[in-house]
Amino acid sequence: MVDPKAVAIGAHLPWMLRAVVVGLLGLAALVALLVGPWAAARPDATGWTLLALAAMALLAFGEVLARRMGRHRQRLTDQACELERVALVAELTRNAVVISDRQGRIEWVNEGFIRMSGYGWHEAVGRRCGDLLHFEQTDSQARATLADALVAGQAASADLLQRDKSGRPYWVHVDLQPLRGRGGDLTGFVSIATDISARMLERERLQAQWRALPAGVVIHAADGRIVDANPAAWRMLGLTHDQLLGRDSMDPRWHAVRDDGTRMPGHEHPAMLTLATGQAQRQALMGVSLPSGERRWLRVNAEPLRTLDDKLDGVVTSFLDITEFSAQRRLLAMTVQAAELGTWDWQIDSGAVQFNDQWWKMFGYTSGELPDGLATWWSQVNPEDRPAARDAMNRHFADQSQPYRCEFRMRRREGGWLWVMAAGAVVERDQDGKPRRMVGVHMDIDHRKQLEHKLESAALTDALTGLPNREALHRRLSRCVDAGVFCQGQAFAVLFMDFDRFKLVNDSLGHEAGDELLRQVAGRLRAALRSGDDVARLEEAPSTAARIGGDEFVVLLERLRHVDDASLVAERLLGTLSQPYLIDGQVVETSVSIGVVTSDAPGGDPATLIRDADTAMYEAKRLGRGRVVAFSPEMHERVCHAMSLERDLRQALQERGQLWVAYQPIVELGSRRMVGVEALARWNHPERGQVSPMEFIAIAEESGLIEELGAWVLRQACSDTAELLRPMPEDFEWTVAVNLSRAQILKDSLPELVARTLSDTGLPARRLHLEITESMAMQDTCAVATLTALRRTGVRLALDDFGTGYSSLSSLDQLPLDAIKIDRSFVARMSSNAYQTALVEATLRVANSLRLEVVAEGIEDEMQAATLHALGCQLGQGWHFGRPMPADRLLALLHTQTPACPVRSAPALAEA
Ligand code: C2E
Ligand code: CA
Ligand code: CA
Repeated sequence: MVDPKAVAIGAHLPWMLRAVVVGLLGLAALVALLVGPWAAARPDATGWTLLALAAMALLAFGEVLARRMGRHRQRLTDQACELERVALVAELTRNAVVISDRQGRIEWVNEGFIRMSGYGWHEAVGRRCGDLLHFEQTDSQARATLADALVAGQAASADLLQRDKSGRPYWVHVDLQPLRGRGGDLTGFVSIATDISARMLERERLQAQWRALPAGVVIHAADGRIVDANPAAWRMLGLTHDQLLGRDSMDPRWHAVRDDGTRMPGHEHPAMLTLATGQAQRQALMGVSLPSGERRWLRVNAEPLRTLDDKLDGVVTSFLDITEFSAQRRLLAMTVQAAELGTWDWQIDSGAVQFNDQWWKMFGYTSGELPDGLATWWSQVNPEDRPAARDAMNRHFADQSQPYRCEFRMRRREGGWLWVMAAGAVVERDQDGKPRRMVGVHMDIDHRKQLEHKLESAALTDALTGLPNREALHRRLSRCVDAGVFCQGQAFAVLFMDFDRFKLVNDSLGHEAGDELLRQVAGRLRAALRSGDDVARLEEAPSTAARIGGDEFVVLLERLRHVDDASLVAERLLGTLSQPYLIDGQVVETSVSIGVVTSDAPGGDPATLIRDADTAMYEAKRLGRGRVVAFSPEMHERVCHAMSLERDLRQALQERGQLWVAYQPIVELGSRRMVGVEALARWNHPERGQVSPMEFIAIAEESGLIEELGAWVLRQACSDTAELLRPMPEDFEWTVAVNLSRAQILKDSLPELVARTLSDTGLPARRLHLEITESMAMQDTCAVATLTALRRTGVRLALDDFGTGYSSLSSLDQLPLDAIKIDRSFVARMSSNAYQTALVEATLRVANSLRLEVVAEGIEDEMQAATLHALGCQLGQGWHFGRPMPADRLLALLHTQTPACPVRSAPALAEA
């Protein structure tokens, strides 16, 4: 395009010159016309000369005139072309072009205007743009600018929000230019409007982003001064927009510090570094003090701004407030350090693993001594622990909610293993959820593991004997059960053994001796099992002897050739264990009862197996001790029955209403006078009715309830007898016999209990007979001391059931006795068997010579009574004379026999 100024000056100056030349030529032509006739009239040289000059002037003027007229025509043609081109541009441009008069009324609009505004030519012409396209939301400042320019006839430009005919708002940039005539007078205006809606929208969007950015963004000019900052920056720096504007990094009010807390000079600020070097700064850390005094930590990036010709023009810094994050990071670092945790950071794809210094130190390495990487780590893990570690990892990979946590051993540099606890989590996954990065810690738990190990082995060992304990047995047994009982060579057996003398040794020789007995038993078991049972078991078959409590030992025989072989081993152990023991210089003999259960027994879980072996042992005891009994299911039922009775008996002892004492008369065979009674315990079970004493006394003895029951019977019998005797004369001949169980006699406190019961009930000691069984008295040599002490209190002792055990007459003088009771089995067999009669006779003779009273039990007929009397037996007891009866019935009976005695009411009595 032609510069309008250049055209104006180029056209102006030659025009004046040309005017001067044309004027001079015109003047010369005029002179020539005036001079010509005069010169023609004078044919002299001067005249010719003047004429020639006049003609030349005329010719020149004519020439100039003709040229000027040609040029003028040419200019007019050129101007017409130029206007045509401008009009074409105005038509073609997409911008709106409006030509208005001096008042701003539209005279002409282009197609662009019609398209943009929606108004047609005729709607537009004659109106003002401002009125036609007015929109309330148009910036009043911009409108005023344009209005002022119109009034002043000056150029102006502004961005305007306008509204088209349909009401649609759109943004335009308007450039208004005054149009002037030749003389410079204002003829109108031309305005060109460019649609900038898209650009404005883009600007809005950018501004929204600028405001919404969570990162602080600050723009610095080339001299470092801040020229703009977004709201996040105001917030993070604790300053308003205005306070920020104009500040530079050198401003002393910044109080910036480095990572280590030292002051950061202004030129070190990331923005200044970028301005100084032209290089972007990444992830710089700086601390700034807010006006409130609070210190915030910022992670800063700085990016240079350049002009189009690549000159540094400023810098943009953006920053994140990482104060909380860095506080947490510091805390974490401190924790990791204080807890001496080894940390690892694993890039799963590449297998690269990074460890901290502590990690290396933990295993005795210097940092980086081995190649970093998964392979290194994995090769350090104890092969035995690898499957568990892998499983834990895979579980976590598959399910993030499952924490990765496991314990394993890792190799130490100096050899051996270190127990570590690993914990970690996947921190990065790809789009498919596949783990990409995982971080975690390894913690030294070796000390804890060692302690655990010690505790565990302590928890699995019986401290006294050093044998495995119940728990250890349980585990071992579980393994056997799991191994599968049906597999070849996997048969096993559980031998449950109980020693008869243990309690006795404990009570009489003291706990030390009891412990010694247990240790010797354990030693024999160990030796016996070590020597092997090649016949019965496979070579190197393991066996476990365990002490599971008190004097109960269990032997587990594994890998038997055949289940029946278990009994062979049991018999052999029985023999070994029954040999006398030497304890504290004393020979102690004990029998052992062994119950056997084998892996072919049904329902073989460990607890059941032990229980069944225990049941069989119980049965062995019941059958007379010192024997091996193999378990059978009926046995279990029997034991269950016994257990339910035991429970009920315990209950009955609490409530007492169900228990009572029956009295069976003892008569003088000669006079048939009642001279005393035997007190017999009775249990009226609410559901089972009368339970036989044979049954419940045995249960009471096995369960330990006998002491309580026995003490109760004793007290009841003493008080009933004291009551019975109260109205009787002092010399009234009468005794009460009370049975004592083995467990009662084994108590040192028995004499004291008896004495107290007598004094409490007011019964004289001589009225009380205590019956002990033969086998019991014979076996327990140490019971003799108790019996002697008892006798010293004044009570009398009778040997019960004489003739049933393996006692001999000769042993009678070894016990502190006053009487013997011939067992009813003797009496029953007497009539048919002369040998039995002879035995009774011999017994009576020996007893007489030892001054022992004799009571014959179980006399059921007159014949027996007469025979016994004839043989010299003074006293008798049996159904023939009376069945066991309640106390009041006895009283009634006594009154019929002893008229001297005051008559007492005898309520209705039920036969026991
Ligand atoms: P025991 O001490 O031998 O008691 C005598 C048993 O013979 C009683 O059996 C009695 O009822 C029974 N009897 C008496 N005369 C005859 C007879 O002519 N023919 C027959 N066939 N039996 C007769 P009971 O009452 O069943 O007691 C059984 C055993 O229970 C007692 O035998 C005794 O060992 C024990 N017992 C009973 N009460 C107590 C007690 O309070 N404490 C203790 N430790 N044991 C007791
Ligand atoms: Ca008795
Ligand atoms: Ca008896």
